[in-house]
Amino acid sequence: MNLVLMGLPGAGKGTQAERIVEEYGIPHISTGDMFRAAMKEGTELGLQAKSFMDKGELVPDEVTIGIVRERLSKEDCQKGFLLDGFPRTVPQAEALENLLTDLNKKIDYVININVDRSILMDRLTGRRICKECGSTYHLIFNPPAKEGVCDKCGGELYQRADDNAETVQNRLDVNIKQQEPLLTFYETKGYLRTIDGQQDIRKVFADIEQLLEDLR
Ligand SMILES: [Zn+2]
Repeated sequence: MNLVLMGLPGAGKGTQAERIVEEYGIPHISTGDMFRAAMKEGTELGLQAKSFMDKGELVPDEVTIGIVRERLSKEDCQKGFLLDGFPRTVPQAEALENLLTDLNKKIDYVININVDRSILMDRLTGRRICKECGSTYHLIFNPPAKEGVCDKCGGELYQRADDNAETVQNRLDVNIKQQEPLLTFYETKGYLRTIDGQQDIRKVFADIEQLLEDLR
Protein backbone atom coordinates (compact mmCIF):
# COMPACT_ATOMS: atom_id res chain seq x y z
CA MET A 1 0.00 0.00 0.00
CA ASN A 2 2.20 2.82 -1.30
CA LEU A 3 0.36 6.11 -1.06
CA VAL A 4 0.91 9.81 -1.59
CA LEU A 5 -1.51 12.13 0.19
CA MET A 6 -2.31 15.53 -1.25
CA GLY A 7 -4.59 18.36 -0.21
CA LEU A 8 -4.57 22.13 0.19
CA PRO A 9 -4.28 23.80 3.61
CA GLY A 10 -7.58 23.32 5.42
CA ALA A 11 -8.58 20.25 3.40
CA GLY A 12 -8.23 17.98 6.43
CA LYS A 13 -5.16 16.10 5.26
CA GLY A 14 -3.64 15.76 8.74
CA THR A 15 -6.78 14.17 10.22
CA GLN A 16 -7.10 11.69 7.36
CA ALA A 17 -3.38 10.85 7.48
CA GLU A 18 -3.75 9.94 11.16
CA ARG A 19 -6.68 7.67 10.43
CA ILE A 20 -5.01 5.94 7.48
CA VAL A 21 -1.88 5.23 9.53
CA GLU A 22 -3.93 3.89 12.42
CA GLU A 23 -6.16 1.71 10.24
CA TYR A 24 -3.55 0.24 7.89
CA GLY A 25 -0.39 0.27 10.03
CA ILE A 26 1.80 1.92 7.41
CA PRO A 27 4.28 4.66 8.39
CA HIS A 28 3.31 8.30 7.92
CA ILE A 29 6.24 9.93 6.18
CA SER A 30 6.21 13.71 6.24
CA THR A 31 9.09 15.79 4.95
CA GLY A 32 9.63 17.55 8.27
CA ASP A 33 9.79 14.30 10.27
CA MET A 34 12.11 12.77 7.70
CA PHE A 35 14.54 15.71 7.89
CA ARG A 36 14.48 15.73 11.68
CA ALA A 37 15.17 11.97 11.85
CA ALA A 38 18.05 12.15 9.34
CA MET A 39 19.63 15.03 11.27
CA LYS A 40 19.22 13.26 14.58
CA GLU A 41 20.80 10.09 13.21
CA GLY A 42 23.58 12.28 11.81
CA THR A 43 23.53 10.62 8.38
CA GLU A 44 25.65 12.20 5.64
CA LEU A 45 22.50 13.52 3.93
CA GLY A 46 21.00 14.63 7.24
CA LEU A 47 24.09 16.73 7.93
CA GLN A 48 23.95 18.20 4.42
CA ALA A 49 20.29 19.12 4.89
CA LYS A 50 21.09 20.69 8.24
CA SER A 51 23.83 22.88 6.77
CA PHE A 52 21.35 24.35 4.26
CA MET A 53 18.63 24.83 6.85
CA ASP A 54 21.05 26.47 9.29
CA LYS A 55 21.85 29.02 6.60
CA GLY A 56 18.11 29.55 6.05
CA GLU A 57 18.34 28.10 2.55
CA LEU A 58 16.07 25.60 0.82
CA VAL A 59 17.37 22.04 0.90
CA PRO A 60 18.24 21.11 -2.72
CA ASP A 61 16.26 18.32 -4.40
CA GLU A 62 19.23 15.89 -4.59
CA VAL A 63 19.55 16.00 -0.81
CA THR A 64 15.80 15.75 -0.16
CA ILE A 65 15.42 12.87 -2.60
CA GLY A 66 18.39 11.08 -1.03
CA ILE A 67 16.71 11.36 2.36
CA VAL A 68 13.42 10.06 0.92
CA ARG A 69 15.32 7.12 -0.60
CA GLU A 70 16.92 6.26 2.75
CA ARG A 71 13.57 6.49 4.51
CA LEU A 72 11.65 4.37 1.98
CA SER A 73 14.39 1.71 2.08
CA LYS A 74 13.74 1.06 5.76
CA GLU A 75 12.16 -2.13 7.03
CA ASP A 76 8.91 -0.49 8.16
CA CYS A 77 8.11 0.56 4.56
CA GLN A 78 8.03 -3.08 3.37
CA LYS A 79 4.25 -3.25 3.41
CA GLY A 80 3.67 0.33 2.45
CA PHE A 81 3.95 4.00 3.29
CA LEU A 82 1.98 7.22 3.30
CA LEU A 83 3.96 10.12 1.87
CA ASP A 84 2.76 13.53 2.98
CA GLY A 85 4.28 16.82 1.85
CA PHE A 86 6.53 15.16 -0.71
CA PRO A 87 6.71 15.44 -3.68
CA ARG A 88 5.93 19.14 -4.03
CA THR A 89 7.03 19.64 -7.62
CA VAL A 90 6.99 17.67 -10.88
CA PRO A 91 10.82 17.20 -10.88
CA GLN A 92 10.52 15.75 -7.36
CA ALA A 93 7.68 13.49 -8.54
CA GLU A 94 9.82 12.28 -11.44
CA ALA A 95 12.72 11.62 -9.08
CA LEU A 96 10.37 9.68 -6.81
CA GLU A 97 9.25 7.52 -9.75
CA ASN A 98 12.90 6.68 -10.50
CA LEU A 99 13.82 5.90 -6.95
CA LEU A 100 10.76 3.70 -6.44
CA THR A 101 11.66 1.79 -9.61
CA ASP A 102 15.16 1.25 -8.14
CA LEU A 103 13.60 -0.04 -4.93
CA ASN A 104 11.27 -2.29 -6.93
CA LYS A 105 8.22 -0.44 -5.69
CA LYS A 106 5.50 1.69 -7.25
CA ILE A 107 2.87 4.15 -6.11
CA ASP A 108 -0.59 2.61 -5.82
CA TYR A 109 -2.61 5.79 -5.37
CA VAL A 110 -2.16 9.50 -5.05
CA ILE A 111 -5.08 10.55 -2.89
CA ASN A 112 -6.14 14.17 -3.32
CA ILE A 113 -8.55 15.48 -0.71
CA ASN A 114 -10.45 18.05 -2.69
CA VAL A 115 -12.25 21.02 -1.16
CA ASP A 116 -13.56 24.12 -2.95
CA ARG A 117 -11.53 27.24 -2.49
CA SER A 118 -14.41 29.19 -0.93
CA ILE A 119 -14.88 26.51 1.71
CA LEU A 120 -11.14 26.44 2.44
CA MET A 121 -11.32 30.22 2.89
CA ASP A 122 -14.11 29.83 5.46
CA ARG A 123 -12.25 27.08 7.29
CA LEU A 124 -8.93 28.93 7.34
CA THR A 125 -10.25 32.36 8.29
CA GLY A 126 -12.70 31.12 10.95
CA ARG A 127 -10.36 30.98 13.93
CA ARG A 128 -10.99 33.44 16.78
CA ILE A 129 -8.95 33.88 19.93
CA CYS A 130 -9.89 35.40 23.29
CA LYS A 131 -7.95 38.57 24.11
CA GLU A 132 -8.18 37.83 27.82
CA CYS A 133 -7.58 34.10 28.32
CA GLY A 134 -6.30 32.92 24.92
CA SER A 135 -9.07 30.30 24.38
CA THR A 136 -9.48 29.35 20.73
CA TYR A 137 -12.76 29.15 18.82
CA HIS A 138 -13.76 28.52 15.23
CA LEU A 139 -16.79 30.11 13.58
CA ILE A 140 -17.71 26.81 11.88
CA PHE A 141 -16.21 24.03 13.98
CA ASN A 142 -16.33 25.44 17.50
CA PRO A 143 -18.32 28.70 17.65
CA PRO A 144 -18.73 30.64 20.89
CA ALA A 145 -22.26 30.74 22.37
CA LYS A 146 -22.40 34.50 21.80
CA GLU A 147 -20.78 36.04 18.75
CA GLY A 148 -17.47 37.76 19.49
CA VAL A 149 -17.49 36.85 23.19
CA CYS A 150 -15.45 34.19 25.05
CA ASP A 151 -17.60 31.47 26.66
CA LYS A 152 -15.11 31.01 29.47
CA CYS A 153 -14.29 34.54 30.60
CA GLY A 154 -16.49 36.94 28.60
CA GLY A 155 -13.41 38.43 26.93
CA GLU A 156 -13.45 39.86 23.41
CA LEU A 157 -12.55 37.51 20.53
CA TYR A 158 -10.14 38.60 17.78
CA GLN A 159 -8.67 37.20 14.57
CA ARG A 160 -4.92 36.67 14.28
CA ALA A 161 -3.19 38.49 11.41
CA ASP A 162 -2.13 35.10 9.94
CA ASP A 163 -5.79 34.15 9.62
CA ASN A 164 -7.03 37.23 7.78
CA ALA A 165 -8.59 36.87 4.33
CA GLU A 166 -5.74 38.41 2.37
CA THR A 167 -3.00 36.32 4.00
CA VAL A 168 -5.04 33.13 3.64
CA GLN A 169 -5.87 33.94 0.02
CA ASN A 170 -2.18 34.37 -0.79
CA ARG A 171 -1.29 31.15 0.96
CA LEU A 172 -3.97 29.27 -0.98
CA ASP A 173 -2.86 30.83 -4.29
CA VAL A 174 0.73 29.72 -3.75
CA ASN A 175 -0.37 26.20 -2.85
CA ILE A 176 -2.85 25.88 -5.73
CA LYS A 177 -0.23 27.04 -8.23
CA GLN A 178 2.27 24.53 -6.86
CA GLN A 179 -0.21 21.68 -6.72
CA GLU A 180 -1.78 21.96 -10.18
CA PRO A 181 1.10 20.59 -12.32
CA LEU A 182 1.60 17.80 -9.80
CA LEU A 183 -2.06 16.76 -10.04
CA THR A 184 -1.79 16.75 -13.84
CA PHE A 185 1.39 14.65 -13.64
CA TYR A 186 -0.27 12.02 -11.45
CA GLU A 187 -3.49 12.08 -13.44
CA THR A 188 -1.49 11.26 -16.57
CA LYS A 189 0.26 8.43 -14.71
CA GLY A 190 -3.16 7.07 -13.70
CA TYR A 191 -2.46 7.23 -9.95
CA LEU A 192 -4.68 10.14 -9.02
CA ARG A 193 -7.84 9.53 -7.00
CA THR A 194 -9.89 12.49 -5.88
CA ILE A 195 -11.78 12.28 -2.59
CA ASP A 196 -14.54 14.75 -1.73
CA GLY A 197 -13.18 16.55 1.33
CA GLN A 198 -16.32 18.64 1.84
CA GLN A 199 -18.16 15.80 3.51
CA ASP A 200 -18.21 14.89 7.18
CA ILE A 201 -14.74 13.74 8.38
CA ARG A 202 -16.02 10.18 8.89
CA LYS A 203 -17.49 10.05 5.37
CA VAL A 204 -14.21 11.31 3.89
CA PHE A 205 -12.40 8.46 5.63
CA ALA A 206 -15.05 5.94 4.56
CA ASP A 207 -14.41 6.95 0.93
CA ILE A 208 -10.67 6.47 1.45
CA GLU A 209 -11.29 3.04 3.00
CA GLN A 210 -13.39 2.06 0.02
CA LEU A 211 -10.64 3.13 -2.35
CA LEU A 212 -8.02 1.16 -0.41
CA GLU A 213 -10.15 -1.97 -0.03
CA ASP A 214 -8.49 -3.79 -2.95
CA LEU A 215 -4.98 -3.05 -1.60
CA ARG A 216 -5.57 -4.79 1.73
ZN1 LIG B 1 -11.54 34.12 27.41
